[in-house]
Amino acid sequence: MAERRYDVVVVGGGIVGLATARDLVLRRPGLRLAILEKEPEIGRHQTGHNSGVIHSGLYYAPGSLKARLCVEGCHATYRYCDKHGIPYDKAGKVVVATDENELPRLEELYRRGVANGVPGLELIGPERLRELEPHAVGIKAIYSPITGIVDWSRVARSYADDVREHGGEILTEHQVTAIRQKGDGVLLRTASGVVQCTFLVTCGGLHSDRLAMMSRAPRDLQIVPFRGDYYVLRPERRYLTRGMIYPVPDPAFPFLGVHFTRRINGDVWLGPNAVLAFAREGYGRLDANLRDNLDTFTYPGFWKLAAKYWQMGLEEMVRDFSKEAFVEACKRYVPEVTPDDCLPGPSGVRAQALDVDGKLVDDFIVQTSARIIHVRNAPSPAATSSLAIGRMIADATDRLIGEDPRRVTPGAQVSELADGEPVVARSPESGAAAAGDAGALGPADERLGSAPAAGREP
Ligand SMILES: Cc1cc2nc3c(=O)[nH]c(=O)nc-3n(C[C@H](O)[C@H](O)[C@H](O)COP(=O)(O)OP(=O)(O)OC[C@H]3O[C@@H](n4cnc5c(N)ncnc54)[C@H](O)[C@@H]3O)c2cc1C
Repeated sequence: MAERRYDVVVVGGGIVGLATARDLVLRRPGLRLAILEKEPEIGRHQTGHNSGVIHSGLYYAPGSLKARLCVEGCHATYRYCDKHGIPYDKAGKVVVATDENELPRLEELYRRGVANGVPGLELIGPERLRELEPHAVGIKAIYSPITGIVDWSRVARSYADDVREHGGEILTEHQVTAIRQKGDGVLLRTASGVVQCTFLVTCGGLHSDRLAMMSRAPRDLQIVPFRGDYYVLRPERRYLTRGMIYPVPDPAFPFLGVHFTRRINGDVWLGPNAVLAFAREGYGRLDANLRDNLDTFTYPGFWKLAAKYWQMGLEEMVRDFSKEAFVEACKRYVPEVTPDDCLPGPSGVRAQALDVDGKLVDDFIVQTSARIIHVRNAPSPAATSSLAIGRMIADATDRLIGEDPRRVTPGAQVSELADGEPVVARSPESGAAAAGDAGALGPADERLGSAPAAGREP
């Protein structure tokens, strides 16, 4: 198969890769860009399996990337949907405390939201809660009127149209299996032949750690997949929820707990829970993948996490297999809901980065070297933040291009990637395994994103 050459290749046709590619082709007319996606179509994984919420930026630690990019992304999403005729609904959300013990956390969330510049937040009592959500109960709540709902798959398809209209290519069934850097370019081995580029951005979602490690980035962050299952309310009981009803999140865990979410098509989903998945792309309860499990169970950080949270994990697994236990958790917020109201629904798998110390990494993480940018952690609210993440990565790519004497003139010829060759080459520019080398992503990297104690939102 003929070798193809691009100025920039983006690996991953999820919403983050698409938004990044879109920003790049819009800001650089004539840029030769391709997205490589392993599946036959874009948006198959997290982008196509989520709650469909446009988050407001309420939860995240002020100053974190999540806080900044979610708030920016939320506004940008509404503007984008208006411009492109994509339906959305600012249905509004309540975060509900049902117990006195939750009040300090609820109030801290409110302070965070205000500090993050989320407009229109209100701390409300039970009466106002009943006005907004007549079937919900609680002693105090936060109301976020700008939280909305949208079909993120539809948004992603629209980004893809923008990419194509501006000259970018989307190559599906192009699973990247090896990355090799030479001084003047990057070679990618894919399931459909070799692709060459001058700059590479990887946005691999559930496989982001593997893509980073193909360029010899250290195994300091590993993706641990967490499956979440939803139930769907029977159509005749949809009136139980007008917008979105969320619990106060447990600060020890980066997921929000089971919530009620109205969908853009009128359905109401309950969930998702969060259980360790035995396959990164396993959407069924019994799906398992040997390689994925070996990766999880041989990662030292996993055992540290398990030692800390085994009890919580066990409770989540019980709720996963017992509809009654799941519905019991929901009844705390909407007492009228019964097991009969809940029909089995879809599921999603979250790509959650875990560090070697067993800490679930909250914030978005992006690592960059001279030619390669890896998105290492883009959990929720990355769909909401996608336009802002895309802008940030396109800015970073601009800086790399600016620092490169050859800019994006047609990528210089680099040698063929032969099967079985080591995937990393030393950079002749740096003379050492340093920033110019794809294998040099490490402590000396410029980290666009770091991992402060941020908040959470699935
Ligand atoms: C259950 C659940 C609920 C969520 N709810 C919300 C929500 O309500 N609001 C919100 O803002 N966010 C939500 N999120 C988070 C959001 O969906 C994700 O953060 C976002 O979709 C991440 O996008 P991505 O492009 O990074 O990953 P993905 O959508 O997973 O895309 C990554 C892509 O990379 C491709 N790929 C991987 N490896 C390779 C390779 N080697 N070669 C080529 N291609 C490759 C994959 O096939 C995939 O298409 C939720 C997530 C889940 C799982």
